[in-house]
Amino acid sequence: MTARLLDGTALSARLRQEMSPRIDVLSRRGKPPGLAVVLVGDDPASQIYVRNKVKACADVGIRSELHRMSSTTSEAALLDVIARLNCDRTVNGILVQMPLPPQIDPARVIEAIAIEKDVDGFHMLSAGALMTGRIDGGVGFRPCTPYGVMRMLDDAAVPIAGAHAVVIGRSNTVGKPMALMLLARHATVTICHSATRGLADLVRQADIVVAAVGRASTVTADMVKPQAAVVDVGMNRDAAGKLVGDVDFSAVREVAGWISPVPGGVGPMTIAMLLDNTVLSAERAAAPP
Ligand code: NAP
Repeated sequence: MTARLLDGTALSARLRQEMSPRIDVLSRRGKPPGLAVVLVGDDPASQIYVRNKVKACADVGIRSELHRMSSTTSEAALLDVIARLNCDRTVNGILVQMPLPPQIDPARVIEAIAIEKDVDGFHMLSAGALMTGRIDGGVGFRPCTPYGVMRMLDDAAVPIAGAHAVVIGRSNTVGKPMALMLLARHATVTICHSATRGLADLVRQADIVVAAVGRASTVTADMVKPQAAVVDVGMNRDAAGKLVGDVDFSAVREVAGWISPVPGGVGPMTIAMLLDNTVLSAERAAAPP
């Protein structure tokens, strides 16, 4: 039987609709949510990502502002912009598009963003809040990509508690927070990376596989347990320049129970979660003390 599709395009459209009353309430109170996007340099992929994010804001009624800076911008100049945005009460979220030019330390930039506005969820304090379960208590934000994966799994009613989840990739932005989110939902989690021995055997044991590597065909059909849920975070270009994930989609869909496509899977969910975090930030800022 062919796997059910984890359709990120359809789910993100639904989630954006559900956000609309929350945005209306904030706007009626004179506190519409606002996102500031900072783009340093002219990396073509970054320009597309930023354009998509700004457009997504406009579609749901979130005010956005784009701050473009040249590729020769100094770290101090970027930190000045962030300091200004931190104090701007009309800005609820600050997103600095990565990667940054080599003269700028990304960690220093991320840590300069006020935790209340860290809608990407990359700040050390957001990471700590995720680890200690404090986010729902109002501290920090969930990183958008793994958060989007969790929402996809929940929407499809994929059982998580007690499941064995194998996360391939251990980056701070995807793999590690993904593993923590699955753990918080009582999955038994295995994290794999480039030094993992016997990757195929580990993946074969998984009820849930999340591939976040950046290498096409990392997960092939012979590695997947029948009826497993397979989520593909990867974004790669094949020889013809077509966007593909880390999973061998056409073969794996014949084995898996659920599978997310690339494009149309995790990508649109990541943007939806950025909007969701921005609305959450505005709600927190508008709430009485
Ligand atoms: P990253 O920082 O490069 O991390 C990749 C991870 O994969 C690393 O932990 C690396 O291990 C591991 N890895 C590399 N080769 C491996 C192998 N042969 N076997 C097992 N693990 C291996 O990348 P990232 O930022 O996490 O992103 C991962 C992918 O997701 C990329 O394709 C990226 O474009 C995509 N992405 C998509 C979205 C979206 O919205 N759809 C968002 C973010 C990222 P080591 O730690 O040992 O090096």
